Amino acid sequence: MTDIKILLSEDEIPTQWYNVIADMPNPPAPVLGPDGNPVSPDALMAIFPMGIIEQEISSERWIPIPEEVRDIYRQWRPSPLFRARRLEQLLDTPAKIYYKYEGGSPAGSHKPNSAIAQAYYNKQAGAQRLATETGAGQWGSALALAGRMFGLEVLVYMVNISYQQKPFRRSMMETWGATVVASPSDQTESGRKIRKEDPDSDGSLGIAISEAVESAATRDDTNYALGSVLNHVLIHQSIIGLESKKQFEKVADYPDIIYASCGGGSNFAGVAFPFFADKASGKEVRLIAVEPSSCPTLTKGHYAYDFGDTAGLTPLTKMYTLGHDFVPPGIHAGGLRYHGDSALVSQLYKEGLVEAMAVGQLRTFEAGTTFARAEGIIPAPESSHAIASCIDEALACKQSGQAKTLFFNLSGHGHFDMAAYDQYASGQLEDFDYPEESIKSALESLPKVG
Ligand SMILES: *Cc1c(COP(=O)(O)O)cnc(C)c1O
Repeated sequence: MTDIKILLSEDEIPTQWYNVIADMPNPPAPVLGPDGNPVSPDALMAIFPMGIIEQEISSERWIPIPEEVRDIYRQWRPSPLFRARRLEQLLDTPAKIYYKYEGGSPAGSHKPNSAIAQAYYNKQAGAQRLATETGAGQWGSALALAGRMFGLEVLVYMVNISYQQKPFRRSMMETWGATVVASPSDQTESGRKIRKEDPDSDGSLGIAISEAVESAATRDDTNYALGSVLNHVLIHQSIIGLESKKQFEKVADYPDIIYASCGGGSNFAGVAFPFFADKASGKEVRLIAVEPSSCPTLTKGHYAYDFGDTAGLTPLTKMYTLGHDFVPPGIHAGGLRYHGDSALVSQLYKEGLVEAMAVGQLRTFEAGTTFARAEGIIPAPESSHAIASCIDEALACKQSGQAKTLFFNLSGHGHFDMAAYDQYASGQLEDFDYPEESIKSALESLPKVG
């Protein structure tokens, strides 16, 4: 009998996070200021605490997890690794399928892994308030929870379309005590500018980031927190892959292919990078980031320096981008609608060390429904991107008779996304392929560097 849930005890929660920079063949491209010169760490001090800045620029392989952070992680970690035996049966595949389930956190996704750490370092540095943005609401929920746990006020700029579509995500943040504002708002210069041009703007993550950064930069008691993309967020999320490696050891197995949905990259990096350490020392393992075909940052974007936000308040990062003024189609995987991607994920993809795929919206809901009917858990639409690619490979294994070991991160549950499942079930969902002209025209909006 094989175990269905491969579990670790609380004392097996890793004591250190992993930083992939130590194992990358080439150093990361520098982050540049508006003058085209590398940004000094001091320049970040207006909006980030020192503990976070140190991690952002660190090239140490191992970074200690503070005891206070590990102690809160124990509230839901270690998360279970499941053997998807019922899905394997349903697909009639010789492949072995495993998934790590991050939906058991209070906020329902992997995002609290970084939110808790960020709130901790901000509290340490004496901040009283955190400003952030949220697209689908998962990151805002995670930071609202983390702020509550460390006694910090939290202000969330929520992308207007989600604010309208997902009132219960807002209630959740407010229950934990956060203040939630629809973005673009009239509280910031960046928000007012957009509203003047388009009073009914749906908003976008890029716009909401501009608002949050502006509100942190203009108040001494307020710092900024970002839920993905940056190196320190990827470091915090490595807890997922580190635990997974211990769990695979327990069952004497090891993945051939790892799938994770990819928005800004912290979910993919979190599960995959600890395995990259083995790949860097010669082990064969494929790491695949799966993104929506409506926001095909890695698979169709440009590898270039670009801003992280719409108003151009952030430093310039070399990354795959669809252009910082990208406004994505209103697909339901709201957590994957960012114009750019992590610099580290982008560089490893450019160098051919990790792979990427894009999947259409309808296929992801089909895969999510198949998964729910086999395994019970209703996945977040974001997570269903990884599920769709994993199912495709399991079916290919059926054709070829190969018994590969497949692994994906089930980054969250879909309990707040049932309206989207309803639309899928009643045939109202559509596929959006991001138009080639928009991809070309994005080139023109890229900032000139050098
Ligand atoms: C945010 C989110 C993602 C995407 O994470 P990134 O770090 O932005 O790539 C995936 N799944 C769920 C459930 C999320 O909330």
